[in-house]
Amino acid sequence: MPSEERGAMVEQALVLDQEKFATYPQQPHGGKLVDRVATGEERQQGLKRAQTLPKIMVDLEAAITLELIATGVLSPHEGFMNQQEYLSCLETGRMTNGLPWPVPLSFAPIGTRNVETIDSLSVGDEVVLVDEDHKPIALLQLDDIFSYDRDHRAQHIFGTTDRKHPGVDAIYRRMGDTALAGKITLLNRPDWGPFEGMRMEPKETWQLFYEEKKYTSVAGFVTGANPMHRGHEYMQKNLLEEVDALLLLPLVEMAKREYTRHEFRMLAYRSVLDEYYPPERSIMFPLRVTYVFAGPREAVLHALILKNLGCTHKIVGRDYAGVGDYYELYESQSIFDEFTPEELGIDIRFFNEVFYCVRCAQPTTLKTCAHDDSTRIYISGSGIRELLRHGFIPPEEIARPESGRIGIQGVQPKGLNEEGESVKSAGKLIQTMFPYYLTHIGIGGRKREKPLDPQDLTKDDIEIIMLDIQNNAGLIYKQTAQEYARAADINRARQPAWVDKAHEDVRTEQERVIRTLEEKVANASENASDEFMYQSRAEAQKELDVARKILAETGEPITEEDTADRVWNIAPYENYY
Ligand SMILES: [Zn+2]
Repeated sequence: MPSEERGAMVEQALVLDQEKFATYPQQPHGGKLVDRVATGEERQQGLKRAQTLPKIMVDLEAAITLELIATGVLSPHEGFMNQQEYLSCLETGRMTNGLPWPVPLSFAPIGTRNVETIDSLSVGDEVVLVDEDHKPIALLQLDDIFSYDRDHRAQHIFGTTDRKHPGVDAIYRRMGDTALAGKITLLNRPDWGPFEGMRMEPKETWQLFYEEKKYTSVAGFVTGANPMHRGHEYMQKNLLEEVDALLLLPLVEMAKREYTRHEFRMLAYRSVLDEYYPPERSIMFPLRVTYVFAGPREAVLHALILKNLGCTHKIVGRDYAGVGDYYELYESQSIFDEFTPEELGIDIRFFNEVFYCVRCAQPTTLKTCAHDDSTRIYISGSGIRELLRHGFIPPEEIARPESGRIGIQGVQPKGLNEEGESVKSAGKLIQTMFPYYLTHIGIGGRKREKPLDPQDLTKDDIEIIMLDIQNNAGLIYKQTAQEYARAADINRARQPAWVDKAHEDVRTEQERVIRTLEEKVANASENASDEFMYQSRAEAQKELDVARKILAETGEPITEEDTADRVWNIAPYENYY
């Protein structure tokens, strides 16, 4: 959408009021969409006051949080939490009034200058929060100052104080000893760089969903570090069968060691949406949140964010914003049990892990596939990034080629290291995505006598797998169908003549073998030594028996005449129409 058009929409959106909200199928969390963005005269006054107020310098992550609060993405919060509210959310996942809120909003600035300023502040003061260029971002009206316990926060949000966890590390890196609380007023929002023209605020989404498009339901989907794959598509399209529209929300602000660059992720999504999704029912814009890596708690936070954007449904997959092995599989789903559907106010739809089964010939899950690992390609976001580093766009079974082509340009780090290795070992990648290879020769193929040890696998095995999947994954269902058609087609037009000929030739040749052996049996002596190619009659008879068995087991070619007796009707044909 061009930015002038968007600008016009913002103006229009201002007409949204409580009365209109009441008619929508969704309501903001806590009942009211927060708007703490200063405009016009209020903003001018704020900017003027800011010149003489004590200054606290904030980083980009804090500036983004300020924008989220001010625009209502984090409704009902109007600022940073006071101690009571903070501890309540941290320890119980709820606000003091009982409303679910899983990740406390706190502000404990670091830096010598900031700490000096904080020491001089008291409750009731107003401060201005400025960015690294000293540009005022927001005003903060202090209603609480309290000492801040980083261990306590890490332990409660992430369940660990291990600094290897990126969310935990961020707490110790970014948070100081004293937290400031109070309502904020946004004066300037941070620039969105390449995403500036795509951003949308809650007041625009409500307007779009319920005034312009007249949707009655919208399912939201938040995605992390990966280019789109068919697991995403499976879940989204399942919901699209039921709801009016899909809101796709790629997160574009986070720190992860290896990932796909946000610009490329957005472009990969765009290409897939354009080709495979109904344009009138698919909306995408980036969500710029600080990537807190809160695992299960983050899934709940995203649900509330989607609710504040107007979504009625949220799709939750298996491994939500998971990092390493800190969380149980599906823990992002079980955490929702702590809240009633009424409390959350958004319909959460859970999905099992999606994989591609070559025998079903579709993306599927444990709930719907009847087969085993020998015919499955598992879909893993980090595994897909590994394939991109190995120089392959992922098999079309698990990612649309449009997505892979752009993803391979944006993956970080790119390629392999000097030792020819990637971020993860080849064995780990194969175990995660292609477990069939450890136990079977080829996808859908014969079982190995001895399973392979993942530790022995190298990038050569990845190449073998990619070649095998390219050549055979699409054949398994197709060849199965051909066998059935060969046995059942009454119209033989699509049965290849050369196959019928081969079947016939096999029979003719075998009949010749039998005739020869019959003569040999007739002429054989009762006793003969095997050593010089002579056989006893019993031995020759044994060969003849085997040859006859082979003929009996060889399929007869099916001709049009053979199938003639498969078609009959009791009544004249015209009686049927
Ligand atoms: Zn299957």
